[in-house]
Amino acid sequence: MKSYDIVEWGKPLQEVLRDRPKPVDTEVLVKVQACGVCHSDLHIRDGLLDLGNGKHITFESVGVKLPFTMGHEIVGVVAEAGSEASVKPGTPCVVYPWHGCGTCLNCTNGREVDCESGRALGTRKPGGYSDYVLVPHEQYLLDYGKLDPLLAATCACSGLTSFSALKKLPPMLDADTLVLIGAGGLGLAALGLR
Ligand SMILES: [Zn+2]
Ligand SMILES: [Zn+2]
Repeated sequence: MKSYDIVEWGKPLQEVLRDRPKPVDTEVLVKVQACGVCHSDLHIRDGLLDLGNGKHITFESVGVKLPFTMGHEIVGVVAEAGSEASVKPGTPCVVYPWHGCGTCLNCTNGREVDCESGRALGTRKPGGYSDYVLVPHEQYLLDYGKLDPLLAATCACSGLTSFSALKKLPPMLDADTLVLIGAGGLGLAALGLR
């Protein structure tokens, strides 16, 4: 299969060919139809996140090795399912990418997104800038109904982030005005959700 990978931190992605993964047990292999490009990918490609006050964390320090396939806004179709997965090949799905370790206090209490040993697709594990992506469990495959698949892909990151921000708003009166600052991926997603 063909992927576009970070081969050298901070440099343009390069085409990488490797064998198509074989899903085992609960794993599901998804044929990628489209994958959104998130602003975070620019930071991931550079190999470090700025934590402020001159501090930063590198992706190498959390175990990311090159070449690495980014892409966490994935929409596709189930290509093959492991022996313990019941989802049928051909099923269209958005891939929820924010996977945790599954065993820590956060993961076992339904807060997988707060896991400190996260295994998110496209930031820790190989993501969707590829023909195929391996998903550890069918619980991460979501039906997107009648949405345009290209829009559905963005629900996994910018859609979720905007939805979460809007949910934190206090109750609004008819006379209130909500100002969205910026009209990039998040701002436009918020506008679409209102
Ligand atoms: Zn993102
Ligand atoms: Zn965890």
